[in-house]
Amino acid sequence: MKIDASARYYENMKRMTPGGVSSPVRAFEPNPIFMDSGKGCMVTDADGNDYIDLCMAYGPLILGHSHPSVISAAEQQIKMGTVFGAPSFPEMELISEITKRVPCAEMVRLTNSGTEATMHAIRLARGCTGKRGIIKIRGGFHGSHDAVLSDDSQKGLKNGILSETASCTYTAEYNSEEDIESMLEKNDDIAAVIMEPVLGNAGVVAPNKNYLKNVRKMTDAEGVLLIFDEVTTGFRLSAGGAQELYDVTPDLCTMGKIMGGGFPAGALAGKEDIMRCLAPEGKVYQAGTFSGNPVTAAAGAAALREMTPKKYASLNKMSSALVSSISDSLEDHEIQAAVNSVGSMFQIFFGIDSVSNGTEAQGCDRKRFGDLFRRMLDSGIYMPPSALEVNFLSTEHGPAIAQLSEEFDKNLGCIK
Ligand SMILES: *Cc1c(COP(=O)(O)O)cnc(C)c1O
Repeated sequence: MKIDASARYYENMKRMTPGGVSSPVRAFEPNPIFMDSGKGCMVTDADGNDYIDLCMAYGPLILGHSHPSVISAAEQQIKMGTVFGAPSFPEMELISEITKRVPCAEMVRLTNSGTEATMHAIRLARGCTGKRGIIKIRGGFHGSHDAVLSDDSQKGLKNGILSETASCTYTAEYNSEEDIESMLEKNDDIAAVIMEPVLGNAGVVAPNKNYLKNVRKMTDAEGVLLIFDEVTTGFRLSAGGAQELYDVTPDLCTMGKIMGGGFPAGALAGKEDIMRCLAPEGKVYQAGTFSGNPVTAAAGAAALREMTPKKYASLNKMSSALVSSISDSLEDHEIQAAVNSVGSMFQIFFGIDSVSNGTEAQGCDRKRFGDLFRRMLDSGIYMPPSALEVNFLSTEHGPAIAQLSEEFDKNLGCIK
């Protein structure tokens, strides 16, 4: 496989932008692959190599690359105008599609990214409770702003985050009710617990039975807001996200990725009395020039409408077939590993029998993962380059499942 163009572009990019990438997770050695185009489950790189895509832009592309009805909705809007700085019809449509699907979404505010959504959800939680503290989950990811990047391992100004901010963020272990309970008991200055209902940025980790329900009960009892960060799980695990799948309704939730139909997007949503604290009705300020962008909104609404219950069912079925074939291969090759999956998200953790929280995920054998990643890349499969990211399937992966199973089997056999 020739990757000359990618290597050349990377050298050039490294001179112009830190690490040669626009977002750190994209960097890998010897060079990231520069992509030219995508269609369905396939991507083509700058050297003309084709790959089956398992990264899928880290989650937004549940309908695959360039889905015809999403592209046509976006094209139509592009011809009519790309941004107005005034409300528009597509924005109303997208908000209405979201409120129809997401249980906690009595009201919605559109943003441009998941990062903005969680940043504003936390400000909103602080503004309407008058409390400062935030509890988050180890291994969880909520974008790249101060309140959620700061945890015990990242204090000090070297990373640019004020210790005053970091000291308001507490980190609990996922799947441990005890951790959250003891933090809530010790501290009456907690505004909110923010969590991914299914950990999706430490590989994939599912909640234990009743974990989410118990967190809901504890936060209710203490008058602390529960924020589900569904930027990855929203519109992926079901039309209503993890909150619908596990039947636990948070006070607020944040969304992004899939809801933009492949364009930059984010949203926060929640109970009406809380949402009405946002400007211009309330005192909590939140704004954005491109918020509710009509092209994003038109594409997003089209994508949500495409995802019928039948499509979710067949996507999840396709995913479990692949996951069980990977499990079989690991067993056949006598490789110690855990394969975690929920719906159309999965990840392999090497050198460990099970992973139920972020700390255990961190303990996996990343070198072995790196070996698999490189071998798969050489075989024409584009996985996310980190052991702590997630493989995503789309509705368009059906014709590729047999080949994926085969390539996983072959390559797992070699890393032994
Ligand atoms: C991707 C992600 C974010 C950040 O969203 P951006 O659009 O990249 O800013 C936040 N939370 C979760 C759970 C995510 O997966």
